[in-house]
Amino acid sequence: MAQAKKAVAKTSRKQTARTTVRAAVKTYQNYIGGKWVASESGELFENINPADTGDTIGRFPLSTSDDINAAVNAAQEAFDRWRRTPAPRRAEVLFRLGEILIGYKDRFAADMTREMGKVLKEAGGDVQEAIDCTYYTAGEGRRLHGFTTPAEMPDKFAMCTRQPVGLCGLITPWNFPMAIPSWKLIPALICGNTVVIKPAEDTPLSTYNLVKACEEAGIPPGVVNLVTGHGDTVGAAMTNHPALRLISFTGSTETGRIVASACAERNAICSLEMGGKNAIIVMDDADIDLAIEGAVWGAFGTSGQRCTASSRLVVHKKVYKQFVTKLVAHAKSLRVGNGADPRTDMGPVINADAVDKIMGYIQVGRNEDGATLACGGKRLTRGDYANGYFIEPTVFTDVAEDMRIAQEEIFGPVTTVIPANSIEDAIRIANGVRYGLSAAIYTQNVNQAFRAMNEVYTGIFYVNASTIGAEVHLPFGGTKATGNGHREAGTQVLDIFSEWKSVYVDFSGKLQRAQIDTVELAGN
Ligand code: ADP
Repeated sequence: MAQAKKAVAKTSRKQTARTTVRAAVKTYQNYIGGKWVASESGELFENINPADTGDTIGRFPLSTSDDINAAVNAAQEAFDRWRRTPAPRRAEVLFRLGEILIGYKDRFAADMTREMGKVLKEAGGDVQEAIDCTYYTAGEGRRLHGFTTPAEMPDKFAMCTRQPVGLCGLITPWNFPMAIPSWKLIPALICGNTVVIKPAEDTPLSTYNLVKACEEAGIPPGVVNLVTGHGDTVGAAMTNHPALRLISFTGSTETGRIVASACAERNAICSLEMGGKNAIIVMDDADIDLAIEGAVWGAFGTSGQRCTASSRLVVHKKVYKQFVTKLVAHAKSLRVGNGADPRTDMGPVINADAVDKIMGYIQVGRNEDGATLACGGKRLTRGDYANGYFIEPTVFTDVAEDMRIAQEEIFGPVTTVIPANSIEDAIRIANGVRYGLSAAIYTQNVNQAFRAMNEVYTGIFYVNASTIGAEVHLPFGGTKATGNGHREAGTQVLDIFSEWKSVYVDFSGKLQRAQIDTVELAGN
């Protein structure tokens, strides 16, 4: 690998003009074939704190397709040995990784808050999810169940086993900077695949931390390769690389479509997790205070930057007024600030583009849609907020189901309250978007709860809980424009990262023919 040819620091999308470097800024490297190496380009981009754009966290390789080629070659070289390593042995290394992540949890959470902005407790939850995923999925090393089934003929045995898919390209977003990479990486590894992982350009440090922990755990060289850089160069080089048998992507529906098209061109397996426009239904018999707590947590947790965020609150008209009054009071009471401060309820949004997009939607809500701005709606720019990407928790009321703010994914601290006349009406509204990730109902009526559970077409559903809060041992994913039918987490993720092999063993010693119209029994 060539040494850095030049050390040009390019900006990430988070950077503004007034960057001041306060301390020596560390330069990070790619991890390819078990070695930490600079990009072939020699160029770097900066990772900036979204709560304080004067704080440069590190410089990361602005990689190119050459780096992807090198990483894929390393993954290819490591593949045979790793796939032949018995799965229980692969699991042992992953359990070790779980132990290492526990040891570094606080540091990794602090790094995550600094690069992504979410409050420390949520960052701790993100790292914990990687730990949980690692332990849970490593346990599959002693299961990875296939199945046996009777054969059509005597003295014949039939079974199904799992085999790795091969080399996997993992492309991840910035909103769960360690959890989402782990949801892809650990199942890929337990199934015997080798990987190239590319984190989002806004949050490379958390994936670096995860990969560094993999190295410490003793995962062999070439099994995990890390390449940082931009999506339209490095990401595209991955989706187009003929040796990457599988691309697993989490991000926006728009980018997912590009990724899926590239995979379709070369018959690669493609697994997509994308957007959401998730509804909480609040019925007239609901515990309103509980529903408010769920709505606030679901709408403003992670500053609304979750694909499962509660961006639509579909409220029965009998309790609409009461709900809105309490919701607005609660939203106004949230303390916005740097996520590293334990008093902060809601951190910044990720970058300048996100500010523009969210503020644009707030304009759409007020002007084009004509909804009522009940609270929030402003960017915070004074005092401690001056150098960060802070937006007030924002609630729109009198929202009609077909307004743009009720249909399009805003991915920020903005929620909409939509009135409904009945359970049928509420279910219809909940289903009336292009996405199908998560939904929830607040009610004390078991019939209504089960009805909504059956009728709402999403991959995840909650009763008397918010739309956010997935657990790693249940499948995660959505319907319609949210995904392409795959589920991550749970044991279902194994169906992404392994392929079935049907095995027939004929021990009759004779030719026994299947797929013909007469039944031929051995011995007859
Ligand atoms: P967001 O808009 O929230 O940043 P994206 O869907 O653009 O979400 O990004 C998710 C991931 O996809 C990131 O790692 C990003 O670098 C990557 N990405 C962006 N564009 C492409 C592309 N054309 N091909 C492959 N990956 C891409």
